[in-house]
Amino acid sequence: MINLRNVSKFYYKKGMIASGISKVNLQLDMGEFVVITGESGSGKSTLLNVISGLDTYEEGEMYIDGRQTSHFMEKDFAEYRKKYIGNVFQNFNLVGSYTVYQNIELILLINGYNRQDIKKRVNEILARVDLTSHAKTKASKLSGGQKQRVAIARALAKETDIIVADEPTGNLDSASAEEIVKLLHEISKDKLVIVVTHNYEQFAPYVTRKIKMHDGKIAEDLRVNQGAPVVAEESAEVQATGKPARTRKRATGKISAGSKLRLGLRNTFNVVPKFVLLLIVFTFVCAAVSSQYTSYLAQRAEAGNLGYNSYFINTSLDRIVLKKADNSKFTAEDYESISNVYNVKTVAEYDILLDMSIYLGDDEFYYDVAPRSIDEFKGKLVAGRMPAKPGEVILSGSKDDYNLSGDMLGKNLNREYQVQYSIMERTMKLTVVGIAYKKQADSLSNVTDVYMDNNYLNDIMAETYHDHSDLKVTINKKVQEVYAGDSMYNILPSNQVDEGKIVTSAEVGNYYKDGKATGKNIKVKVSNIYYEKAKELEVQGTYNKKNFDKYSDLDFEMYSGIMFVNPKDYSKFFTHDNYQASVYVQDKDIVDETKVALETLGYVALPIKDVLIQIISDVVAMLQLPIAIIVILGLFFIAYFVIRLILRSRTGYFSILRMLGMNMKAMRRITDVELLVVMTLAYGIFMAVAMLSTYGYIHVEQIVNLVKYMKPVHYGILYGVLLIMSYLISGKFSRSLFKKSAMGTYREVE
Ligand code: ADP
Ligand code: MG
Repeated sequence: MINLRNVSKFYYKKGMIASGISKVNLQLDMGEFVVITGESGSGKSTLLNVISGLDTYEEGEMYIDGRQTSHFMEKDFAEYRKKYIGNVFQNFNLVGSYTVYQNIELILLINGYNRQDIKKRVNEILARVDLTSHAKTKASKLSGGQKQRVAIARALAKETDIIVADEPTGNLDSASAEEIVKLLHEISKDKLVIVVTHNYEQFAPYVTRKIKMHDGKIAEDLRVNQGAPVVAEESAEVQATGKPARTRKRATGKISAGSKLRLGLRNTFNVVPKFVLLLIVFTFVCAAVSSQYTSYLAQRAEAGNLGYNSYFINTSLDRIVLKKADNSKFTAEDYESISNVYNVKTVAEYDILLDMSIYLGDDEFYYDVAPRSIDEFKGKLVAGRMPAKPGEVILSGSKDDYNLSGDMLGKNLNREYQVQYSIMERTMKLTVVGIAYKKQADSLSNVTDVYMDNNYLNDIMAETYHDHSDLKVTINKKVQEVYAGDSMYNILPSNQVDEGKIVTSAEVGNYYKDGKATGKNIKVKVSNIYYEKAKELEVQGTYNKKNFDKYSDLDFEMYSGIMFVNPKDYSKFFTHDNYQASVYVQDKDIVDETKVALETLGYVALPIKDVLIQIISDVVAMLQLPIAIIVILGLFFIAYFVIRLILRSRTGYFSILRMLGMNMKAMRRITDVELLVVMTLAYGIFMAVAMLSTYGYIHVEQIVNLVKYMKPVHYGILYGVLLIMSYLISGKFSRSLFKKSAMGTYREVE
């Protein structure tokens, strides 16, 4: 069975070589009950470890069932241990938090036995070691003798040929020791049992062979107790060519996924303080990650709430931007009541235009101007005349502006400019007929204003809404999203289209079975921060390259995906109604009081001075993502160290698993399960608290604020982040366990 030929083992310690065993020759066979004795340091443990494949040897050859082992790698020895060796330890190495049954079951799970076999086998073995009545007792509650019986039962469960035990009675009183010796003797009848002890007397009546070690060498090798089966020593040659390795009926030898799951779940709950601690850590991580994440969402949402005014061109400190709490449009009554508020100097009705600029230019001149209503013009002309026709405008700017003074002034007069006023490149023609200088005090901003006819202004406003709205069209049940500024499925007004109708590209016909778009209905839906409007329009006809110019003077190649609607429908989608207004205050120092007064009237008021701070915090918001990532990484490491600290308390458990032959991957899966379960529970707790406080059952304001911006998808993302975190922590932890060699782990437990 086992044959050692001139085997030596050296230990290297601080440059010194110490001999563990030297030139040992030994043949051991089934049915033997071998005891190795000798004084301390004589090499007993070393010999046993070499035999059981826990330690390597440097010289000689060890044969196992005739096979040479000198070329074995660590994994070959692991395989050998798994197949041949059952270990019994001086300090039992049981999982204290597992029951007797579970301790024995564990090794069978690791070795891939199936469920039915396990149950039968564990119960058989429990009966054999006389522990049936203790099956459900936790291992930590047993006496020393009982523990060692469980350990022997576990060694037996695996059905290995060899049982090795290093000082199995070392921690037992004499009565318990006697019991264990008898048990070992009994099992030696169909196995090879090798025991190391310094207390030979305890074993003397039962053993079949006594080996005494001295100074790393076998000093005495005696067969004792006549009648016990002693097999004659065979020659090394015979062994070397010997019998084939035994084949066995056993199970897969690999732990199944179901077993990993079961062990993971069992480990999650069986040590209550550890479970609670982990749960607390994970709940904390959950709260910290989500607060980090939601503060990022909140920042973004706040920036989004400001609509297209998140970036104001007109940043007068005496300006307050208003919208109605219900997002409805401003009426004459609104303007009336606003203007009556104390400290309000003027009300600007066309508010969004305050922050808009349009390009006015020709081959020579190029301006960035702010559109204004001619009704608001109060200044005095320095050149030209007041407009007489809709396309005529007045330019008003600083007299220091190069384009508006000196020679240039004359050149600007009566010039016709092309004006581009939307990202859809819509243009209008405006002729400058008058020029005025702004008084410094009147100046709303330092841009040049262009005062124009209200119809033109309305058109520009409608385009502003177009630029800032989400547009979706539904063609034959398929929803098409239109990207801002993109022509595909976008809409433009055309006089050639009847009200309630739409004209599309001929290609839209491809959406329908009959290949024709004409007569079908297309739904157009417009939404922005103030309103949502949808309408079904019937396709009046389609265009192609040839007749495109009937509908528009735009370039067909660039706009071939566009759809045309009647100008009336267009202006219903993109109204020029005012959903936002601004007031200018008399006294800048009491802006905050005025803000409160306006809020009392039911408006949402945003003083520009606060927005300037907001702009700074927009920069912060931009920095938030990387910061969030850094914080989450920081949390990850804190969590990792805390969790590792907690799991450290279970290094013993993992060492046992490893000694019982579990590989790193399986141990990692078990840890995965445990951390995932705890994490999910913590997430559940966090969610429950969040829900309860959202619906007012408990009042935790921080949490209400925290979850305000969370949409279902964000909960998903949050869970994903936590999932990845647990997975990484588990991986890191399992790898740290396997940094030590099997023997290192083994020694640590001992
Ligand atoms: P025993 O079990 O009989 O007390 P060991 O097999 O443990 O003896 O030790 C045999 C010799 O090997 C002793 O001299 C001991 O100092 C040395 N030895 C054992 N283990 C180690 C080790 N891990 N590192 C260095 N020397 C060791
Ligand atoms: Mg020893």
